[in-house]
Amino acid sequence: MFTHTCEICGKAFESKSNRAKYCPDCRNKAQANRNKAHAEKRRSGLAIEIGSEQICPFCQKTYIVVTGSQKCCADCRKKQANAAKIASNTEYTKNNYEVVKFYVPKGQREQLKAYAESQGLSVNKLISIALEEYKKNHG
Ligand SMILES: [Zn+2]
Ligand SMILES: [Zn+2]
Repeated sequence: MFTHTCEICGKAFESKSNRAKYCPDCRNKAQANRNKAHAEKRRSGLAIEIGSEQICPFCQKTYIVVTGSQKCCADCRKKQANAAKIASNTEYTKNNYEVVKFYVPKGQREQLKAYAESQGLSVNKLISIALEEYKKNHG
């Protein structure tokens, strides 16, 4: 054990570390203050300086901060925006559509896809248009 004098309250204390500066009481308080200061800094947005280099938390790449609210690199932001869009699309589809499964002979799926693509449609759109036309022609 090492005996130290606390730099804050001046009390003598013992520690296993030879570099301790503060007694356990003051260390806790100092840590709490540091956390508070850090939280306040973060809340006011001062922790991220525009134009500074930050490490992206997702891909660990370095990026330059352009806006105060930027939390990751441009690539990951795009990815996240896309993921959110896909998630909300999926949610919308799930809530508003139903799935109809149908079978085609082997190899025709690709043909169907290719045909839809040649018409500038998705397979889904092609089928629903085909259905409408069938109804028109068959009553
Ligand atoms: Zn102390
Ligand atoms: Zn990134």
